[in-house]
Amino acid sequence: MNRWLRLTTLSACFLLLSSGAYANEQQPTREQVLEKRMAYYINYSSDILPWYYLAAIDQYERNIQEVRRDLPKRDGIVAMQFSDDYWVGPLNPQRDDNYSLSIAFFNGNGVDANGDGLADRKNDDDVMGTLVELLNVQGHSEKDFKKAVKNYYQNDLAVNQILTTAKIYQHFETINLDQHAFPLPLRQDYSYRSTWGDRRGWGGRRIHEGTDLFASYGMPVKSTTYGMIETMGWNEYGGWRVGIRDVNNTYHYYAHLSSFNKKVKQGDIIEPGTIIGYVGSSGYGKKWTSGRFPPHLHYGMYKFNGRTEWAYDPFPALRRWEQEERKRGS
Ligand SMILES: [Zn+2]
Repeated sequence: MNRWLRLTTLSACFLLLSSGAYANEQQPTREQVLEKRMAYYINYSSDILPWYYLAAIDQYERNIQEVRRDLPKRDGIVAMQFSDDYWVGPLNPQRDDNYSLSIAFFNGNGVDANGDGLADRKNDDDVMGTLVELLNVQGHSEKDFKKAVKNYYQNDLAVNQILTTAKIYQHFETINLDQHAFPLPLRQDYSYRSTWGDRRGWGGRRIHEGTDLFASYGMPVKSTTYGMIETMGWNEYGGWRVGIRDVNNTYHYYAHLSSFNKKVKQGDIIEPGTIIGYVGSSGYGKKWTSGRFPPHLHYGMYKFNGRTEWAYDPFPALRRWEQEERKRGS
Protein backbone atom coordinates (compact mmCIF):
# COMPACT_ATOMS: atom_id res chain seq x y z
CA MET A 1 0.00 0.00 0.00
CA ASN A 2 1.53 3.32 -0.93
CA ARG A 3 1.60 6.21 1.40
CA TRP A 4 -1.13 8.18 -0.31
CA LEU A 5 -3.54 5.26 -0.25
CA ARG A 6 -2.83 4.70 3.41
CA LEU A 7 -3.55 8.34 4.18
CA THR A 8 -6.85 8.33 2.29
CA THR A 9 -7.89 5.10 4.01
CA LEU A 10 -7.00 6.68 7.31
CA SER A 11 -9.04 9.81 6.63
CA ALA A 12 -11.96 7.74 5.39
CA CYS A 13 -11.89 5.89 8.70
CA PHE A 14 -11.73 9.17 10.52
CA LEU A 15 -14.72 10.45 8.54
CA LEU A 16 -16.64 7.31 9.40
CA LEU A 17 -15.77 7.70 13.04
CA SER A 18 -16.77 11.32 13.18
CA SER A 19 -20.03 10.69 11.33
CA GLY A 20 -20.69 8.00 13.95
CA ALA A 21 -20.17 10.58 16.64
CA TYR A 22 -22.52 12.89 14.79
CA ALA A 23 -25.17 10.18 14.64
CA ASN A 24 -24.87 9.88 18.42
CA GLU A 25 -25.54 13.58 18.77
CA GLN A 26 -28.65 13.19 16.64
CA GLN A 27 -30.00 10.46 18.89
CA PRO A 28 -29.37 11.46 22.48
CA THR A 29 -29.19 8.79 25.18
CA ARG A 30 -31.93 8.42 27.78
CA GLU A 31 -29.64 10.17 30.31
CA GLN A 32 -29.12 13.12 27.98
CA VAL A 33 -32.85 13.50 27.39
CA LEU A 34 -33.53 13.45 31.13
CA GLU A 35 -30.77 15.99 31.73
CA LYS A 36 -32.23 18.37 29.16
CA ARG A 37 -35.70 17.90 30.58
CA MET A 38 -34.49 18.53 34.12
CA ALA A 39 -32.80 21.74 32.91
CA TYR A 40 -36.20 23.05 31.80
CA TYR A 41 -37.79 22.23 35.16
CA ILE A 42 -34.97 23.90 37.08
CA ASN A 43 -34.98 26.90 34.79
CA TYR A 44 -38.69 27.54 35.32
CA SER A 45 -38.71 26.76 39.03
CA SER A 46 -38.37 29.41 41.72
CA ASP A 47 -38.14 29.72 45.50
CA ILE A 48 -41.91 29.44 45.64
CA LEU A 49 -42.44 26.96 42.78
CA PRO A 50 -40.24 23.88 43.22
CA TRP A 51 -39.04 21.99 40.13
CA TYR A 52 -40.76 18.74 41.13
CA TYR A 53 -44.22 20.29 40.72
CA LEU A 54 -43.40 21.25 37.13
CA ALA A 55 -41.80 17.86 36.54
CA ALA A 56 -44.76 15.94 37.98
CA ILE A 57 -47.35 17.62 35.74
CA ASP A 58 -45.13 17.23 32.69
CA GLN A 59 -44.57 13.54 33.46
CA TYR A 60 -48.31 13.01 33.95
CA GLU A 61 -48.96 14.48 30.47
CA ARG A 62 -46.24 12.24 28.98
CA ASN A 63 -47.82 9.17 30.61
CA ILE A 64 -51.32 9.81 29.33
CA GLN A 65 -50.04 10.54 25.82
CA GLU A 66 -48.41 7.08 25.85
CA VAL A 67 -51.73 5.30 26.32
CA ARG A 68 -54.40 7.58 24.87
CA ARG A 69 -55.26 7.40 21.18
CA ASP A 70 -57.24 10.65 21.26
CA LEU A 71 -54.19 12.66 22.39
CA PRO A 72 -51.31 13.49 20.07
CA LYS A 73 -47.82 12.82 21.40
CA ARG A 74 -46.11 16.16 21.86
CA ASP A 75 -42.80 16.26 20.03
CA GLY A 76 -40.44 18.08 22.38
CA ILE A 77 -38.24 17.84 25.46
CA VAL A 78 -41.24 18.56 27.64
CA ALA A 79 -44.59 16.81 27.11
CA MET A 80 -47.08 19.32 28.54
CA GLN A 81 -49.68 20.33 25.99
CA PHE A 82 -52.67 22.62 26.23
CA SER A 83 -56.04 22.61 24.48
CA ASP A 84 -56.78 25.18 21.76
CA ASP A 85 -59.33 26.83 24.04
CA TYR A 86 -56.82 27.14 26.85
CA TRP A 87 -54.00 28.43 24.66
CA VAL A 88 -55.72 30.90 22.29
CA GLY A 89 -58.94 31.62 24.23
CA PRO A 90 -62.34 29.98 23.65
CA LEU A 91 -63.71 32.80 21.47
CA ASN A 92 -60.56 33.27 19.41
CA PRO A 93 -61.51 32.48 15.78
CA GLN A 94 -57.89 31.68 14.93
CA ARG A 95 -57.43 28.27 16.56
CA ASP A 96 -53.68 28.15 15.91
CA ASP A 97 -53.09 31.74 16.99
CA ASN A 98 -49.56 32.29 18.26
CA TYR A 99 -49.56 36.07 18.44
CA SER A 100 -49.25 37.09 22.11
CA LEU A 101 -51.33 40.25 21.78
CA SER A 102 -54.35 38.65 20.13
CA ILE A 103 -54.15 35.65 22.49
CA ALA A 104 -54.26 38.07 25.42
CA PHE A 105 -57.14 39.95 23.77
CA PHE A 106 -59.20 36.72 23.60
CA ASN A 107 -58.28 35.74 27.17
CA GLY A 108 -56.13 32.85 26.03
CA ASN A 109 -53.37 31.60 28.33
CA GLY A 110 -50.52 30.92 25.91
CA VAL A 111 -47.38 32.75 27.07
CA ASP A 112 -44.39 34.02 25.13
CA ALA A 113 -41.63 32.90 27.50
CA ASN A 114 -38.65 33.12 25.15
CA GLY A 115 -39.41 36.72 24.12
CA ASP A 116 -39.74 36.26 20.35
CA GLY A 117 -43.18 37.88 20.31
CA LEU A 118 -44.90 34.55 19.69
CA ALA A 119 -46.70 32.27 22.13
CA ASP A 120 -45.78 29.12 20.24
CA ARG A 121 -47.10 25.75 21.40
CA LYS A 122 -44.26 24.01 19.58
CA ASN A 123 -41.74 25.90 21.67
CA ASP A 124 -40.72 24.21 24.95
CA ASP A 125 -40.01 27.53 26.68
CA ASP A 126 -43.42 28.97 25.83
CA VAL A 127 -45.06 25.78 27.08
CA MET A 128 -43.12 25.91 30.35
CA GLY A 129 -43.91 29.62 30.79
CA THR A 130 -47.60 28.85 30.32
CA LEU A 131 -47.41 26.01 32.85
CA VAL A 132 -45.81 28.35 35.40
CA GLU A 133 -48.68 30.83 34.88
CA LEU A 134 -51.21 28.03 35.36
CA LEU A 135 -49.67 27.26 38.77
CA ASN A 136 -49.09 30.90 39.71
CA VAL A 137 -52.76 31.72 39.86
CA GLN A 138 -53.37 30.54 43.40
CA GLY A 139 -50.13 30.68 45.38
CA HIS A 140 -47.47 28.10 46.04
CA SER A 141 -48.14 25.96 49.09
CA GLU A 142 -48.87 22.26 48.49
CA LYS A 143 -52.54 23.07 49.10
CA ASP A 144 -52.44 25.80 46.44
CA PHE A 145 -50.68 23.46 44.02
CA LYS A 146 -53.32 20.80 44.61
CA LYS A 147 -56.08 23.34 44.05
CA ALA A 148 -54.55 24.57 40.78
CA VAL A 149 -54.11 20.99 39.52
CA LYS A 150 -57.67 20.08 40.51
CA ASN A 151 -58.98 23.21 38.84
CA TYR A 152 -57.17 22.41 35.61
CA TYR A 153 -57.78 18.64 35.34
CA GLN A 154 -61.14 18.37 37.20
CA ASN A 155 -60.24 14.82 38.19
CA ASP A 156 -59.27 13.52 41.66
CA LEU A 157 -57.31 10.54 40.30
CA ALA A 158 -55.20 12.91 38.20
CA VAL A 159 -54.55 15.11 41.24
CA ASN A 160 -53.53 12.06 43.28
CA GLN A 161 -51.19 10.79 40.54
CA ILE A 162 -49.52 14.18 40.06
CA LEU A 163 -49.04 14.80 43.80
CA THR A 164 -47.59 11.30 44.24
CA THR A 165 -45.16 11.79 41.36
CA ALA A 166 -44.11 15.17 42.81
CA LYS A 167 -43.37 13.57 46.21
CA ILE A 168 -41.33 10.79 44.62
CA TYR A 169 -39.28 13.29 42.58
CA GLN A 170 -38.79 15.48 45.64
CA HIS A 171 -37.64 12.53 47.73
CA PHE A 172 -35.06 11.20 45.26
CA GLU A 173 -34.12 14.66 43.88
CA THR A 174 -34.04 13.28 40.33
CA ILE A 175 -36.34 12.28 37.47
CA ASN A 176 -34.04 9.39 36.54
CA LEU A 177 -36.07 6.62 38.19
CA ASP A 178 -36.21 3.96 35.47
CA GLN A 179 -34.65 1.09 37.37
CA HIS A 180 -36.85 -1.82 38.41
CA ALA A 181 -36.46 -4.93 40.55
CA PHE A 182 -37.98 -8.40 40.46
CA PRO A 183 -40.50 -8.82 43.33
CA LEU A 184 -38.94 -12.07 44.66
CA PRO A 185 -35.30 -12.89 45.55
CA LEU A 186 -33.70 -14.31 42.38
CA ARG A 187 -31.71 -16.95 44.24
CA GLN A 188 -34.76 -18.56 45.86
CA ASP A 189 -37.26 -21.04 44.37
CA TYR A 190 -40.26 -19.52 42.70
CA SER A 191 -42.18 -20.14 39.50
CA TYR A 192 -44.52 -18.11 37.38
CA ARG A 193 -45.99 -18.20 33.92
CA SER A 194 -48.27 -16.04 31.86
CA THR A 195 -51.75 -16.43 33.36
CA TRP A 196 -53.35 -13.32 31.93
CA GLY A 197 -57.09 -13.81 31.51
CA ASP A 198 -57.14 -17.28 33.12
CA ARG A 199 -60.39 -18.07 34.86
CA ARG A 200 -58.68 -20.10 37.55
CA GLY A 201 -56.22 -17.58 38.89
CA TRP A 202 -56.39 -16.33 42.46
CA GLY A 203 -56.83 -12.70 43.39
CA GLY A 204 -58.15 -11.29 40.15
CA ARG A 205 -61.64 -10.12 39.42
CA ARG A 206 -63.93 -11.62 36.73
CA ILE A 207 -60.91 -12.87 34.83
CA HIS A 208 -57.45 -13.17 36.28
CA GLU A 209 -55.89 -9.71 36.28
CA GLY A 210 -52.28 -10.35 37.06
CA THR A 211 -49.49 -12.89 37.37
CA ASP A 212 -49.29 -15.49 40.15
CA LEU A 213 -45.75 -16.13 41.36
CA PHE A 214 -45.66 -19.35 43.36
CA ALA A 215 -43.19 -19.40 46.23
CA SER A 216 -42.96 -20.64 49.79
CA TYR A 217 -44.50 -18.97 52.84
CA GLY A 218 -42.46 -16.11 54.20
CA MET A 219 -40.36 -15.38 51.11
CA PRO A 220 -39.67 -11.61 51.01
CA VAL A 221 -41.72 -9.58 48.54
CA LYS A 222 -39.98 -6.50 47.17
CA SER A 223 -41.21 -3.37 45.46
CA THR A 224 -40.57 -3.51 41.72
CA THR A 225 -40.39 0.28 41.36
CA TYR A 226 -39.65 3.65 42.84
CA GLY A 227 -42.98 4.74 44.23
CA MET A 228 -45.26 5.60 47.10
CA ILE A 229 -47.20 3.09 49.19
CA GLU A 230 -50.80 4.05 48.54
CA THR A 231 -52.65 1.17 50.17
CA MET A 232 -51.68 -1.34 52.83
CA GLY A 233 -54.24 -3.55 54.53
CA TRP A 234 -56.88 -6.18 53.98
CA ASN A 235 -59.29 -6.70 51.13
CA GLU A 236 -61.63 -9.61 50.54
CA TYR A 237 -59.92 -11.18 47.51
CA GLY A 238 -56.37 -9.95 47.90
CA GLY A 239 -56.05 -10.62 51.62
CA TRP A 240 -53.14 -8.64 53.06
CA ARG A 241 -52.16 -6.50 50.12
CA VAL A 242 -49.99 -3.52 49.23
CA GLY A 243 -50.58 -0.99 46.44
CA ILE A 244 -47.71 1.17 45.17
CA ARG A 245 -48.02 4.05 42.71
CA ASP A 246 -45.04 5.00 40.54
CA VAL A 247 -44.17 8.02 38.34
CA ASN A 248 -45.46 6.28 35.18
CA ASN A 249 -49.15 6.41 36.17
CA THR A 250 -48.88 2.73 37.13
CA TYR A 251 -50.35 1.20 40.28
CA HIS A 252 -48.62 -2.01 41.39
CA TYR A 253 -50.69 -4.48 43.42
CA TYR A 254 -49.15 -7.19 45.66
CA ALA A 255 -51.67 -9.61 47.17
CA HIS A 256 -52.07 -12.64 49.49
CA LEU A 257 -49.16 -11.63 51.75
CA SER A 258 -48.68 -13.49 55.04
CA SER A 259 -47.53 -10.26 56.71
CA PHE A 260 -46.15 -6.81 55.99
CA ASN A 261 -42.69 -5.41 56.55
CA LYS A 262 -43.31 -3.46 59.76
CA LYS A 263 -40.69 -0.88 58.81
CA VAL A 264 -42.80 0.52 55.96
CA LYS A 265 -46.23 2.10 56.04
CA GLN A 266 -48.81 3.82 53.89
CA GLY A 267 -47.48 7.09 52.46
CA ASP A 268 -43.85 5.96 52.50
CA ILE A 269 -41.66 6.58 49.45
CA ILE A 270 -39.78 3.42 48.55
CA GLU A 271 -37.36 2.18 45.91
CA PRO A 272 -37.03 -0.97 43.80
CA GLY A 273 -35.96 -3.82 46.06
CA THR A 274 -37.49 -2.45 49.28
CA ILE A 275 -39.14 -5.33 51.14
CA ILE A 276 -42.85 -4.62 51.60
CA GLY A 277 -44.06 -7.95 52.99
CA TYR A 278 -43.84 -11.74 52.80
CA VAL A 279 -45.43 -14.41 50.59
CA GLY A 280 -48.56 -16.05 51.98
CA SER A 281 -52.03 -17.29 51.08
CA SER A 282 -54.26 -14.71 52.71
CA GLY A 283 -57.56 -13.69 51.15
CA TYR A 284 -60.77 -15.07 49.70
CA GLY A 285 -62.75 -14.50 52.85
CA LYS A 286 -63.10 -12.20 55.81
CA LYS A 287 -60.13 -10.65 57.57
CA TRP A 288 -57.35 -13.12 58.53
CA THR A 289 -58.64 -15.86 56.19
CA SER A 290 -55.66 -17.84 54.97
CA GLY A 291 -54.74 -21.17 53.38
CA ARG A 292 -57.54 -21.54 50.84
CA PHE A 293 -55.00 -21.88 48.01
CA PRO A 294 -51.26 -22.50 47.69
CA PRO A 295 -48.99 -19.64 48.83
CA HIS A 296 -48.11 -17.22 46.05
CA LEU A 297 -47.67 -13.57 45.25
CA HIS A 298 -50.41 -12.17 43.05
CA TYR A 299 -48.88 -9.25 41.18
CA GLY A 300 -51.05 -6.83 39.21
CA MET A 301 -50.38 -3.66 37.23
CA TYR A 302 -52.95 -0.95 36.56
CA LYS A 303 -52.48 2.04 34.27
CA PHE A 304 -54.22 5.38 34.76
CA ASN A 305 -54.94 7.10 31.44
CA GLY A 306 -56.34 10.33 32.84
CA ARG A 307 -59.89 8.99 32.96
CA THR A 308 -59.89 5.44 34.28
CA GLU A 309 -57.47 2.88 35.64
CA TRP A 310 -57.33 -0.52 33.95
CA ALA A 311 -55.38 -3.72 34.43
CA TYR A 312 -52.78 -4.88 31.93
CA ASP A 313 -50.62 -7.99 31.77
CA PRO A 314 -47.58 -7.68 34.08
CA PHE A 315 -45.91 -10.85 32.76
CA PRO A 316 -43.66 -9.21 30.08
CA ALA A 317 -42.45 -6.60 32.58
CA LEU A 318 -41.70 -9.27 35.20
CA ARG A 319 -39.60 -11.24 32.70
CA ARG A 320 -37.71 -8.10 31.71
CA TRP A 321 -37.01 -7.00 35.30
CA GLU A 322 -35.89 -10.51 36.21
CA GLN A 323 -33.37 -10.48 33.36
CA GLU A 324 -32.19 -6.93 34.10
CA GLU A 325 -31.64 -7.74 37.77
CA ARG A 326 -29.77 -10.93 36.87
CA LYS A 327 -27.49 -8.90 34.57
CA ARG A 328 -26.81 -6.38 37.35
CA GLY A 329 -25.87 -9.34 39.53
CA SER A 330 -27.75 -8.09 42.55
ZN1 LIG B 1 -53.42 -14.12 41.07
